[in-house]
Amino acid sequence: AGDAPSPRPAGAGVDERFTRFDRHPGYQQLKLMREGGQRLGIPDPFFKVHEGTAGATTTIGGRECINFASYNYLGLAHHPKVIQAGIEALKRYGSSVSASRPVSGERPIHHELERAIAETYEVEDAVVFVSGHATNVSTLGYLLGSKDLVLHDEYIHNSTLVGAQLSGARRMSFAHNDPAALEALLARHRGQFERVLVVIEGLYSMDGDAPDLKRFIEIKQRHQAWLMVDEAHSFAVMGDTGLGLREHCQVAATDVDIWMGTLSKTMSGCGGYIAGCRELVEMLRYFAPGFLYSVGMPAQVAAPSLAALAVMKEEPQRLRDLHTISSYFLEQAKARGFDIGDSIGVAVVPIIVGSSVLAASLSDALLQHDINVQPILHPAVPEKSARLRFFLNCEHTREQIDRTLDVLQVEWQARIQ
Ligand code: PMP
Repeated sequence: AGDAPSPRPAGAGVDERFTRFDRHPGYQQLKLMREGGQRLGIPDPFFKVHEGTAGATTTIGGRECINFASYNYLGLAHHPKVIQAGIEALKRYGSSVSASRPVSGERPIHHELERAIAETYEVEDAVVFVSGHATNVSTLGYLLGSKDLVLHDEYIHNSTLVGAQLSGARRMSFAHNDPAALEALLARHRGQFERVLVVIEGLYSMDGDAPDLKRFIEIKQRHQAWLMVDEAHSFAVMGDTGLGLREHCQVAATDVDIWMGTLSKTMSGCGGYIAGCRELVEMLRYFAPGFLYSVGMPAQVAAPSLAALAVMKEEPQRLRDLHTISSYFLEQAKARGFDIGDSIGVAVVPIIVGSSVLAASLSDALLQHDINVQPILHPAVPEKSARLRFFLNCEHTREQIDRTLDVLQVEWQARIQ
């Protein structure tokens, strides 16, 4: 017998599309985006480097700009007390807690922060995760299973979608801010599932609009579903004292089953929280994968959030200023004929311009005038409703807003002639 032919390697003949990163559909999409931008002479609007703190103003390329692109709504991320709290925590606890909390990462600051969040919400308990995104992914992924249903607003954040996918539950969306559409889905499907979780947001960050929480509560109660509210943009922003959507809508905190929020916005840190009843929170502490299998929140991240919550309460003028300046922006934008969609004028106001190309080009033009505002392009929003998304800050002045809207008007006019 001669030599047997060596067997064909298992990978022979596999198409390059499946072995090369540059043939991955994601990379192809990125290339198309870049080539499109270059053809139109519009620089990449993403990953601009901010060289210091970013609030009502920021420094980009050595130039001080008016800034409408930071979530630092109350200016607390550069507040001396918030910074000091971070420095002291860093000195006391070191730079990492070096383990997951159940193992050996537990520190007093975690409890202090969680207590403060629970007390502010007037619920039994709260738990903090190292990422807001992971908070939603882990909470939905853990609480629900294949016999359950997730019903969510069509504009819900990606983290809820990923969490629902991970859980294996059925998922359906209802029309934006439309309780009647939710009710129709519940009437049709409630009986086929065990647990049903309805997820909405407190303040939608692409549109600056908010749900009618009372109606959502009434519907979820009638259909025996849980209601979860993602307060990433509404906590410490909405309501006369910053208590969020529940204060804005005048409902009891315990009428919502799961309050979720982030520490990365007004709270001036990084991470997310779940606040609610004791059983819910205890269960997440012991079993939610993004908590259990992830490092504990660094103390120098937890302490500034705790300080930010205290400063929000001690300096209520900040919130009043945010509300006043947001209303001013909304009125002035409307007076100039800009399309602000359904924004209620609290902290987030979009100006809808139409095409992604126009939005990117206007954002670039504003930056030439030292005004930083992020364009929101397709597919983050439908192609015909690409926009400039303005995040307001309690430290913005009327002069800054007048100047911004005047420049926008001129640049926009120049592009339609
Ligand atoms: N939920 C919503 C509604 C958000 O807008 C975001 C992020 N902007 C998150 C969750 C995730 O939060 P984080 O950025 O703190 O991870």
